[in-house]
Formats: sequence, C-alpha cells, structure tokens
Amino acid sequence: MQHKDNKGNGKGRLHPGFEKLLRILPDKARHYDGTEFGQPAAMAYLGKRVDMENLRKQAGELRTSSPEQMCEIAMVMAEMIESAAPDHDKYFQTDTKTRSHVFTGSKWRSGWVFLMGNSNHSELEQRFKERDFLVFAQNGGNLKNVIDLGPRETAAVYFLQIMVRYAMIWGGINPGDDHEMGHLLEKDMPGVVVAHGKLTPVEELLLLGLMKMGAPAVVPTDYPWDLGSYVGAEGTDRIIEAATKFPNLRVKEIQGKIIDLPVFCNPANITVEFEVESSIGSGGSFFVLMPGDVKNGIELPKNEDLTHCDAIGIMIEIGDKRLDVSTSEYIEKDALRGISTITGLRAGQSKEGKFLIHCAKGVKPNASIIAEALQRWIPYEFPYLKNVHVKILTGDDVKKVKLEVEEFRAERQKVIGKETDDSVKYFHYCLECQPFSKDHVCIITPDRPPMCGRDRFQQKAAALFGVSRHPWKRRELEGQEIRGSIEVTNATDVKKGEYFEVNRAIERLSPSHIKRVQLHGLREFPHTSCGCFQFLVFWIESLRGIGIMERDYQGEAPEGFTWDKLANSAGGKQTPGIVGVSRNYLRSKRFMQGEGGLDAVRWISPRAFEVLKDLLPHPNEVQMVK
Ligand code: SF4
Repeated sequence: MQHKDNKGNGKGRLHPGFEKLLRILPDKARHYDGTEFGQPAAMAYLGKRVDMENLRKQAGELRTSSPEQMCEIAMVMAEMIESAAPDHDKYFQTDTKTRSHVFTGSKWRSGWVFLMGNSNHSELEQRFKERDFLVFAQNGGNLKNVIDLGPRETAAVYFLQIMVRYAMIWGGINPGDDHEMGHLLEKDMPGVVVAHGKLTPVEELLLLGLMKMGAPAVVPTDYPWDLGSYVGAEGTDRIIEAATKFPNLRVKEIQGKIIDLPVFCNPANITVEFEVESSIGSGGSFFVLMPGDVKNGIELPKNEDLTHCDAIGIMIEIGDKRLDVSTSEYIEKDALRGISTITGLRAGQSKEGKFLIHCAKGVKPNASIIAEALQRWIPYEFPYLKNVHVKILTGDDVKKVKLEVEEFRAERQKVIGKETDDSVKYFHYCLECQPFSKDHVCIITPDRPPMCGRDRFQQKAAALFGVSRHPWKRRELEGQEIRGSIEVTNATDVKKGEYFEVNRAIERLSPSHIKRVQLHGLREFPHTSCGCFQFLVFWIESLRGIGIMERDYQGEAPEGFTWDKLANSAGGKQTPGIVGVSRNYLRSKRFMQGEGGLDAVRWISPRAFEVLKDLLPHPNEVQMVK
C-alpha cells in the first residue's frame, strides 16, 4: 500500500487520491433514481443533498488535511462522480434492492462482504459463498455469484450507500448524524470489507471512509492507518478466518463455537414498524428471566398456537453461576427484544410487569418459534453466557407460577436497592472509550455508575458474558478484553473510594500506567475521564467547593471555567480537580464523598440543578445560573 508515511501525520501533504477525485468531480450534482434519499452518502454525512459549489469549497479546504479527515468528503465526491457515469444504474443499489440485501444479508446469510480492489476475486468469492455470505465486489463483472459494484475506483461508494441506508432506515439515525451512524453500524451492520490486493490512492481513501463509518475490514498487513476496526491478513485462508470473526456479523464464532440466529429471526425487525392486528397476553401474563439450576432446553404448552391466548407466561432460567439476581433484570430487558426479531411480532413489558406480544396482520404467534428465538437470541447478545432454558406457559399454568414470579421480582428489587460499593464482591471495568481517550479506564460500581450514562448493569453483563457490540480498539489493545471484573476486598480509603485492587487494575489497563484512583475523590487522584461524560465536576478554589457543569453549557463558571476548557483538560486522562460523571452518579449516595459530597457544592449549571434540586442540602449556598 502507498502512503505509509501518512500514518497519524498526513496533514500538510496533498493526497493523490483526493486530488484525483477533485480533478474528476463533475460540474453538476445528480440524484440517483430509486431511492428516497437521492444521494444517500451526501444525506448521511451532510444531512442534505450536495451543492457542488460548497462541495468543491469544502474539499478545497481539506486538501492538506490528513486522510482520516478527508475521507468523508472523498466519499461524497465519489458519489457525485459515480452519479455522472452513464452506466451507474447498473451498479447503484436502489432502496428496494437495499431492503432485500438487509433481509437476505442479515437474516438468511452470515452477512455482507464487500471485496474491494481490482484483483481477481474469484477464489474469495467462492470461499465466502461457502460461508453463506452475500458477496459484493468491485470489478465483479466476471463473477457469477456476486453483486457487481462496477469496475471503477469509486465503486466503494455503492457499498457505503447500502450501509448508511441501513442506519437511516432500520437504525432510525437521522441524516447528517454520521457520528451516531458510525456507532450503530460498527455494532450492528451485518457486513465486512475485504481490501484485496493493492489498492489505488483513491481506493485507500474510500476504504478509510467505509471504516470510519463503522465497517470492519480485513486489510493487507502493511495497512498504514490505525483507524476503525480491522485485522491485517493476507492469503485466502487468513482473510476468510479474519473476516468471519468480526462480532457484528450474523454468525459469530466465540471460542470456536458458532453463535447465530434462526432463519426466522432478524435483528433488523426490532425497529420495523407494522400495523398491529392483534395482541396476546394480559395483566396476568409475565416475562421473567432468573438464575436457575438448568441446562439448555425448551418447554412448550400442548397447544403451540398462541393466537387468542389471554394469559401467557415466559420463564427463562439461566444455568450460569456467574449470573446474579441483580444482573438478571438487565438481561431480561434485552431478552425481550429476541421476540421482536421475529417478523411481525413485537414484545413489550410495562414497569409493573404487564407483558404483551403484538402481532402484525396474518401473523400467528407460535410458542415453539418464540422459544427458539429467545434461546438463540440471549447467547447471541451475551456470547459467553451458558445454559438458557425457556419455558412457555398458557392458561391456568400461568396463574400457578405467577406468584413465584412476583416474589422473585420483589426480591430482585430489594437486592438491587441494597447494593453498595461496600456490599459487592466485584467491581467492573470498561475500556470502550480508550480508542479516543487514551488513558481512560471506567471503574463501574454500585455507587459509581458509568460516566456515559449507560446502565451499570449493561456494563456488568457485558463484562461477565461478553456483548454483541464491540468498539474499535487501539492496535496495542488487540488481545485485551474490553471489559472485566475486579475482585475487591477492603478499601484503603473508604471515604475517597480507593482500593488496592482497583489501583492495580488501573495500572495494568491504562497505557500510561496510572497508579492511583479515588472513585469518590476529586483533588488528588480522581477517576480518569473520557469524552462521553454527561457532566463535569470540578474544584473551585476561590469558593472552596465543588462546581457541576452540564455538557455543552455555554456560560462561564467562577474562575473562568467553561465547558470547553474543562472538557479539554479532563478528556482522556486523570486531571486532579476535574472529573467526568453521569446523571446517575450525581444522585449517588457517595457522590464526591471524599470532598464533602453534595454539602460541598458551591456552583451549579441549570440542567445539573434540575437533576439535584431535591437532594441539595443547602441550595441557598449554591451559586446557580438561570
Ligand atoms: S464511559 Fe461508558 S463506554 Fe466509555 S469506558 Fe466508561 S462505561 Fe465504557
């Protein structure tokens, strides 16, 4: 591959691929027929169709930027260039075709693979076909079993157009929100790109665009950029091995075991709208997931047809000793989505436990199908979790176990309510934000929920049982688990929340080997911060107290603290005096206990005040901004 020397510091040099795209950019912007988006790539990145004058201006401004910065505009230019080609209809995938790729590619197949580059792809085509992939190829005109995206260097944009429509249509991501789109696609897109052989500078840039938009990729071993989720591999066997292991694909290999969904399940169905014709279940119905002493299995009612069923009970027991009662609630919520992967069914549960399954016109709910979907969905979402036993009950049998279920739920709430940093044996860690926040290690405890606002049980479940979504990793983290558990014994400083075992873990997990962290302290060794924090907590020396500022607050706190100043000082590191936190941590009983807790708050921004107004002990002593 060319441009090896561009890695990380390509800024300032003209990129031959980008220059070529600029040179061949047509004068006029055209739309593609057969799509409501007109120009899907432009809609994804810009939120609107292209104005050629602006595009040229933007591209001109980016000419000396790094490839990582210019690859998105390069994609939009590629879209315009392809739209001007007289034969583009042959390669453009209309919305109808895209829908079919989504439903065949993610339902009936392992996923999509895009073979990129001008090499002869026939061997790879054959091997991916054997693995049940839907194969797209640049230069695939001579191949029988592929969807040909054309011979030109800009062919990759057709694959990107499919990806972004998957995000905008099925993922519900708004056009223009390419950041969220990238996150969704990286987790959920059923596809992978294989850069096959030598790529031209234009192709390299477009590959980078695909990867930045969340496509995992198999790249040559001398691939120069450290961006996105990728594996370097060469030779057919190694390429196949690498490509089939990306966790976003519909077939997952976890520790040599294949985990996939039944053919009648498709994750894309979870968000598909349909007109509800009938519903089954009622106030007496239930859906529950709990730990149990069970093996894999399914138990069904005599009559598997659940149409017109008033009372339905679904009890899922998990025979995995690592599952505790409190974590079962989060896995239960996720398991419910397994039913909605079945075409024409949508399951829901109210806070009070009222369980219903809505059915689309002509769809007959069937106990065996639902049980199989659940049994396969749970390990699909949590790949290391073992022994899923699904029991479906109807009629009087529901009443018989309803009381037991209610007692379990009540007990579970009590257990969750009582969990504190002192009562649990394990804390958990998450390194998901390290790709952009180098030294950040989130320590997740009952009293210190994650700063990004995620449910702490979501991260705990992921640490224990793996997870279907995987973030990008830095190369040096390739062999490192992204989440895990830390067994804690006694705190070395209870008030500030300092633990010997946590310090040891942070030293191992942070690239700069941070030695000490106080979970509820601020001025000495605060928790590291990433960039996803919902609020920043900071020390204001002149007030001898704590300030709390909401994300993107536009005003200024005492001592000239602004959001940008604070966030830039805290992001990706440990900064004494500033720490990122979530809404849930603001309301934690142990909020900044080492600094005096809520008693020590002296300045607060409006949204932070809304979160805390019922808890602040002396609101009159706190400076507030209206
Ligand atoms: S902020 Fe959230 S996603 Fe990021 S490391 Fe912490 S828990 Fe993980």
